[in-house]
Amino acid sequence: MGVSGGYKVVADDGSEFDHVAGETVERWYRDGLVTPDDRVFSYVDGRWGRLGDFFDARHLGRPSAVASFVGGRVTVLVGDITKQQVDAVVNAANSTLLGGGGVDGAIHEAGGPRILAECREIRRVRYPDGLPTGEAVITTGGDLPARHVIHTVGPVKGMWGERDAELLASCYRNALALAAHHGLRSVAFPAISTGVYGYPREAAAEVASQAIAEALARDDSIAEVRLVFYSARDAEVFVEHQRFDA
Ligand code: ADP
Repeated sequence: MGVSGGYKVVADDGSEFDHVAGETVERWYRDGLVTPDDRVFSYVDGRWGRLGDFFDARHLGRPSAVASFVGGRVTVLVGDITKQQVDAVVNAANSTLLGGGGVDGAIHEAGGPRILAECREIRRVRYPDGLPTGEAVITTGGDLPARHVIHTVGPVKGMWGERDAELLASCYRNALALAAHHGLRSVAFPAISTGVYGYPREAAAEVASQAIAEALARDDSIAEVRLVFYSARDAEVFVEHQRFDA
């Protein structure tokens, strides 16, 4: 299910359709009224792309694994984090834990008010000043297909000097440790910090892959880590720059 009114489509004959629901674009796409090379703007993640990159795997088929690593325990796919049927999806949250744009907005929108209620309680009881960068907490998955959401705060690129990479690695490490602690076996991650927080995708791929590889080597209870990218191009960049074997 797409976000209602979440897309602007510009067909190659120049005709424009604004605030179109994901389901509608999906139907147009399936019926051949628009093509993979048409341009589309997603209000959810605030950027333009090829319609094919936004819709191919995400809305039209099963999530297609692009690649797998660590003996099949890690899969890379193009998809929407809010649609993953896993024990936990990871939210690229901000320290307020009260919602935001990008992944955060999409998770709260799709997951409903129970997630926010638990976040407020975590703020009140454990983190009155906000969740520190690199830390992770867990809530219900609310209305999501995932049972839980693990909220972690990625570093804003440039804010932490040389600690950027260490803090991004902590997000992955702490999220996986929390999942293992709760007996969860499958976890889906978005590309933390690579949106509004400005972390270059190439560098983030190196950091994330190494942190995940280390965590999985230490703990064999987690059977599946899904890395979910919003476009085929983002997934390709990840695969090109990952260092699972480093
Ligand atoms: P941050 O604030 O940590 O940078 P963002 O939510 O802005 O987090 O973006 C993180 C990454 O997630 C970006 O690469 C963005 O393209 C991607 N993204 C945005 N929405 C979704 C979604 N629904 N599913 C998967 N990935 C998404």
